[in-house]
Amino acid sequence: MSPLLALSLLLLAIPIAWFVRRRRARASAPRLPDGWRARLHARVPQAALVPAALRERYEARVEAFISRKRFIGCNGLVVDDDMRLTVAGLAALLLLRDDDATLFPAVRSVLLYPAAFLVRHDEPDELGLVDDEPVEQIGESWQGDRVILSWEDVEAALAGDAVNVVIHEFAHQLDDENPWSEGAPPMADYTQWSQVMQREYERLQRHRRPPVLDPYGAESPGEFFGVVSEAFFQRPVELRRHHAELYALLAGYYRLDPAAAPPLWSAA
Ligand SMILES: [Zn+2]
Repeated sequence: MSPLLALSLLLLAIPIAWFVRRRRARASAPRLPDGWRARLHARVPQAALVPAALRERYEARVEAFISRKRFIGCNGLVVDDDMRLTVAGLAALLLLRDDDATLFPAVRSVLLYPAAFLVRHDEPDELGLVDDEPVEQIGESWQGDRVILSWEDVEAALAGDAVNVVIHEFAHQLDDENPWSEGAPPMADYTQWSQVMQREYERLQRHRRPPVLDPYGAESPGEFFGVVSEAFFQRPVELRRHHAELYALLAGYYRLDPAAAPPLWSAA
């Protein structure tokens, strides 16, 4: 073999080896270490809603979330592994619908506050006025790169509170992945989604005391999607009873049937 031919074969071999390595790396999904799997299920009751057939996918999403998102403690909160696992374990419940669901691509950081935090918004309202009074928030989802959460309220969701700030804020992220509409994540066919969501949104706007859904959902289609996603995970039996069509729509989208699972909280 001439030295020139040997060199060109070697040069060709390098990209092939790189390609094979990348293919192998992509084919084997990230897996949670065994100890973490037990912690995930002990910390996050909602993890029990994932059926056996989707459990491997779920755990791979949790692992990928923890390794790719940066967690930042605010107001003195020190973020530990259990906190990372909890936020990832709740957020990944929204990502079971297909093999290559994107992992909240816009989110680079998760900011955790110990409890509700004060935010001063300086965008003008519809009258052009700026209200610089600080507002108390338990969570925010930015269209830029971050989700902000109150840890106290994350823990309340684990204990069965109707509010689940992780589900709510990450549902906003799914919504924002589709820049052409509000209240709808990306999907192939919007026909059924639009019909059911519009009808239920208008119904919530008419109700003064809705039985299951937080009236805050009547603020906008985006907030409605956040609120119904929270109810789907925190109050599934009631949601199915009072809003059967809406429940079925979300069950189809999220690939979960939480109302059919044993109740997570005895008092709920
Ligand atoms: Zn919201």
